[in-house]
Amino acid sequence: PGAFDVERIRRDFPILARPVHDKPLVYLDNAATTQKPRAVLERIARYYEEENANVHRGVHLLSERATAAYEGARARVARFLGAADPREIVLVRGTTEAINLVAQTFGRARVGAGDEVLVTGLEHHSNIVPWQMLCQEKGATLKVVPVSDAGDIDLADVERLLSPRTRLLALAHVSNALGTVNPVREAVALAHARGVPVLVDGAQGAPHLPVDVRELGCDFYAFSGHKVYGPTGVGALFGRLEHLEAMPPWQGGGDMILSVSFERTVYNRVPYKFEAGTPNMGGAAGLAAALDWLEGVGPEALLAHERDLAAYAAERLAAVPGVELVGTPRERAGVVSFVMDDVHPHDIGTILDREGVAIRTGHHCAQPLMARFGVAATARASFAAYNTRAEVDALVRGLEQVKRMLG
Ligand code: PMP
Repeated sequence: PGAFDVERIRRDFPILARPVHDKPLVYLDNAATTQKPRAVLERIARYYEEENANVHRGVHLLSERATAAYEGARARVARFLGAADPREIVLVRGTTEAINLVAQTFGRARVGAGDEVLVTGLEHHSNIVPWQMLCQEKGATLKVVPVSDAGDIDLADVERLLSPRTRLLALAHVSNALGTVNPVREAVALAHARGVPVLVDGAQGAPHLPVDVRELGCDFYAFSGHKVYGPTGVGALFGRLEHLEAMPPWQGGGDMILSVSFERTVYNRVPYKFEAGTPNMGGAAGLAAALDWLEGVGPEALLAHERDLAAYAAERLAAVPGVELVGTPRERAGVVSFVMDDVHPHDIGTILDREGVAIRTGHHCAQPLMARFGVAATARASFAAYNTRAEVDALVRGLEQVKRMLG
């Protein structure tokens, strides 16, 4: 408490010193991607300046260094997620790839005609479409847990919709569009009581909440490096070892095999079995540095800071005449969505941009959720460690400007 020094944190991020349209940058689009601290940028540079070679195959010194950086990142991710064993971590491109991997291996093996996959109404497209594709392929049905007017799901609905045909529950830890924190631990308990495994889309959970996959009890947890202050193009899938062992491989190629002949290929051990081809070593090193940085800030202190910002933003935005919040969830993490009377969200975003305020406008890759609220799009402010109450004030001033111009 009191140790959270946002000005010191801001100095870690070179881009925050960059003006936008001659105004100080107010970056409130963190749910799309976060900015990167110097420690991450320097780690990536050092990887390429001092350690770069291909992994696993070489006997030479640089290959050993690259392998150490890459496998070190795997162990770092395991520690970040509270996984028991680094073999439970598959390094991937990001959340989207992680979910597709599970759908196309675990899902393909487990879901058959007449079966059901259960998702919630507030999922990102990347936690809908892979399951929809699987269900279409298999003649299975996608079931959806409804979302309340506040933007919450109800555990009673989860319980009701878990049927003897349910083969998997896939839900977001935190909604990227509304900021809703889902009751994941309780949902996992309900699903497991019926023998249903659970995948958690942690793309917005990992940046905002302390995560412990063993405490959550989930079978799979996916997140993206670029949303936790790390680089793009790298992310992770946690999967319980017994699942990963039982799952067939996904993509075929180098590194995922032990031996290949034209008659027969023997697949590599977990997790290499799921990592065909040259991986993103530089990105993995950057991700590890990002997790070090995040841990240095302290996930609990960060959570308190972002809770304060989101609550302050919700309160100030709700007080702007003509602004209406979309979703007032029981528990909110880092995201506030809103609409404004008669003003298209795109115009809000454009005018705010001229003021240096970066927000996201659109459907946030959650079109079914937008449909649920009867809107095509919202404006969304999303927060990170380096944001301040003064930046929320700048957002509100920008909206007053929008109102003067278009209201
Ligand atoms: N799920 C959620 C909740 C997200 O917010 C995002 C990114 N907007 C994704 C999945 C997809 O992440 P990525 O694009 O990094 O694969």
